[in-house]
Amino acid sequence: MNPTLRRLFPAALACAAVLSVRLSAAADPSVVVREPVLALVHARVVDGLGHPARENQTLVLRDGRIAWVGPDAEAQTPAGAAVRDLSGKTVLPGLVLVHEHMYYSLLTPNAPFHVAELEFSFPRMYLAAGVTSARTGGSIEPYTDHQLKRRIDAGEAPGPKLHLTAPYLEGVPAAVPQIDSVDSPADAARMVNYWADEGFTSFKAYMHLRGDALAAVVAAAHARHLQVTGHLGTVSYRRAAEIGIDNLEHGFFAMSDFTPNWKEDDQPNVIAAERAMAALDLDSPAVKDLIKLLIDRKVAVTSTLAIMETFNPGCRMMTSAELDTLSAPARENYLTRWAKVNGRPRGEEAAAWAKYLELEKRFFRAGGLLVAGTDPTGYGGVIAGYGSWRTIELLVDAGLTPVEAIQVATSNGAKLLGIERETGSIEAGKAADLVVVAGNPAAQITDLRKTELVFKDGVGYDSRKLFDSVRGCVGTQ
Ligand SMILES: [Zn+2]
Repeated sequence: MNPTLRRLFPAALACAAVLSVRLSAAADPSVVVREPVLALVHARVVDGLGHPARENQTLVLRDGRIAWVGPDAEAQTPAGAAVRDLSGKTVLPGLVLVHEHMYYSLLTPNAPFHVAELEFSFPRMYLAAGVTSARTGGSIEPYTDHQLKRRIDAGEAPGPKLHLTAPYLEGVPAAVPQIDSVDSPADAARMVNYWADEGFTSFKAYMHLRGDALAAVVAAAHARHLQVTGHLGTVSYRRAAEIGIDNLEHGFFAMSDFTPNWKEDDQPNVIAAERAMAALDLDSPAVKDLIKLLIDRKVAVTSTLAIMETFNPGCRMMTSAELDTLSAPARENYLTRWAKVNGRPRGEEAAAWAKYLELEKRFFRAGGLLVAGTDPTGYGGVIAGYGSWRTIELLVDAGLTPVEAIQVATSNGAKLLGIERETGSIEAGKAADLVVVAGNPAAQITDLRKTELVFKDGVGYDSRKLFDSVRGCVGTQ
């Protein structure tokens, strides 16, 4: 760089930053509805609580809240309200998803696993898909996540309301180079308190964290009224529930409980666990007891079927709209890895896959708190927003009705996060966090992909404009 440019470069960067903040606050082009009082009329409403869809409904939004919702015939639209006719369209609550990341896998052949923070594109893509509240599920760049939350809360950047999980609490060895290890219960508790002081409200135990350290994490977090989830492996689901964990990630995929010859604090054997699942009798007392224990101990289970699907031969390829969001190297990496997975013969995975899906359904039907997350990781086959829709579609493949799948992705997530009085369902008094779909996802869940408008606290974002603003960004920024 020549000396003049070098001198100007930091100043130019600073100007760009200030300018972008002002621009986004004042005139975000993706914001298309800002009326203080708005009536949405002739809508089909899916309330997020599992009730059947209701036709011919009116919603009155006032100052960011749902002021009234009910049949068109009983509606008293306030004088001066802006009116939008939603005939043929569906309104559902903003999605509340709980295994989200602001990073994405950026892989290079022959190099170790690596992720890159996408603090520009991913929040936009989540919001574009209707995600108005998101819990991150383990952080790689905690300070970027923290800054992003601050900017979103201040109205300086579009994105969901964020609930932050601290950096992973991983044992020894660390699963990937960007995650650190803690090797004692005292260290683990120290990390909880450090990140809690920094403003993080949830913690994630990772694959190699041992039982004694998990117990220390749970005790330290609960002492501050904060939650612990886990992508486990070295601790069984049963023991984690007994320790008092709040949430388990990846449905029943990370469960070592039925792996032959495995005992507590042994490292996980993912292949043996999958083989055991393929052969598992789901009607056996051991399986029924485990589901009962999780429900009795109020342990929520996060379904992340979209990411799990990408490891199955025969998995779907990203749509062209999804591929359009990828940078050229990210697209090349994805297509190469997708072809590799699909070149493998389909073996026991198929039997295991069916059982993983069935277990999630049984847990939900038995009264368990099933929640959902996108988890845009793996080899890059799942991205924010589009992958969020895919994870909900796969819940319907698992046997949930579309209305139940929407409940899992809305009010159930809100319950887990303790924000159910504020958001997650369509009821008078709650935040106007809403998704308008040009179709009927209560009949056809894939209609979620026809999302047009997303309201967050009554401010309406154009879904297409948000997606268009990140074309080619995924993999870069
Ligand atoms: Zn994850």
